[in-house]
Amino acid sequence: MNVHEYQGKEILRKYGVTTPRGIACFSVDEAVAAAAELGGSVWVVKAQIHAGGRGKGGGVKVATSPEQLREYADAILGMQLVTPQTGPEGKKVNRLYIEEGADIADELYIGALVDRETQKVVLMCSSEGGMDIEEVAEATPEKILKIYVDPTEGLNRDEAKDVCSKIGIPAVAVDEGADFLEGLYQAFVGSDASLAEINPLVVTGDNRVIALDAKFNIDSNALYRQPEIVAFRDLTEEDANEIEASKWGLSYISLDGNIGCLVNGAGLAMATMDIIQLYGGEPANFLDVGGGANKEQVTEAFKIMLANPKVEGILVNIFGGIMQCDVIAQGIVAAAQEVGLSVPLVVRLEGTNVEKGRAILDESDVKLQTATTMADAAEKIAAAVKA
Ligand code: ADP
Ligand code: MG
Repeated sequence: MNVHEYQGKEILRKYGVTTPRGIACFSVDEAVAAAAELGGSVWVVKAQIHAGGRGKGGGVKVATSPEQLREYADAILGMQLVTPQTGPEGKKVNRLYIEEGADIADELYIGALVDRETQKVVLMCSSEGGMDIEEVAEATPEKILKIYVDPTEGLNRDEAKDVCSKIGIPAVAVDEGADFLEGLYQAFVGSDASLAEINPLVVTGDNRVIALDAKFNIDSNALYRQPEIVAFRDLTEEDANEIEASKWGLSYISLDGNIGCLVNGAGLAMATMDIIQLYGGEPANFLDVGGGANKEQVTEAFKIMLANPKVEGILVNIFGGIMQCDVIAQGIVAAAQEVGLSVPLVVRLEGTNVEKGRAILDESDVKLQTATTMADAAEKIAAAVKA
């Protein structure tokens, strides 16, 4: 699950990480009032969307008077913000964050994530803040220093201080830098994050170390024990189909193509998407109905795919184990009856109760093509959508 920058900063503050003061707002008047409440003479108007690169797209502006602040808030609130991470259609800005302006002497980068190989949290630290870290990793990987944190011993303070000075934190601020890393590590672990990225982390003119941006991804599997983070959820930022699917316990991710896929098991779903592409098709979604889906879930899955105007064909690829092929067949028939099947359908069933499943489909009047192998299925659906 993603959270907004201002929510990420709330998490950080809870763990003692310093951030600028700021107030989240939903209207221009609120933004102007927020600036007055914060005081000072420089404020930053920041679009709150679940995507980075906002500055490049015009979603972060520094205001030096209340009039200018009103002007920027008015321009940014409601805009369709396009950044390198939103895709060409952009994202509508529904919230602003008004933050006190920081006196920036240096912009650095810190990211925390789980390193699967070492099974540790790794802190990636770089002097190259404010930039696209993927580009830094590609062009100058030596500028990214990594600290692997042993979960039983925690962050090693000497190592943290050493890395802080290597990425350019001045000697007088190195202790504060190490505190920052410690706080970020605790925030990462405490919030069950899968990613926490501070880009930039800044050293101010008076040598303080503060988080100027905050991006948190929270591991959805841990949300049951993170009620405060669940309360941060902003449904307007999420894909309507994905929300609907999650209500039905389906793992669904929207993609850009035109072939809807209904598959059981994440591995098979990935392989199905690959083979569709191999035969020249483009998947419209990833959909794993899981091991124990019932007829209602399968019907809903069909409805979600059919509601997507981009879908020009559907491929059902089921390997029945715990999942029974006849349940899938019943779902297909029910969905076709309820919503009508307006696009070509290719079905490949194998495994538990496959004969029963095929019989249900044969006896129904649902128009479909059956396929034997995955390649056969992918070839048929790719051809059907091209026709
Ligand atoms: P994004 O990464 O989405 O573009 P950031 O929060 O990193 O958004 O802001 C982009 C840039 O704007 C930062 O690199 C920094 O230079 C500037 N900036 C952001 N917040 C502040 C602030 N509170 N004070 C001064 N400058 C800021
Ligand atoms: Mg940033």
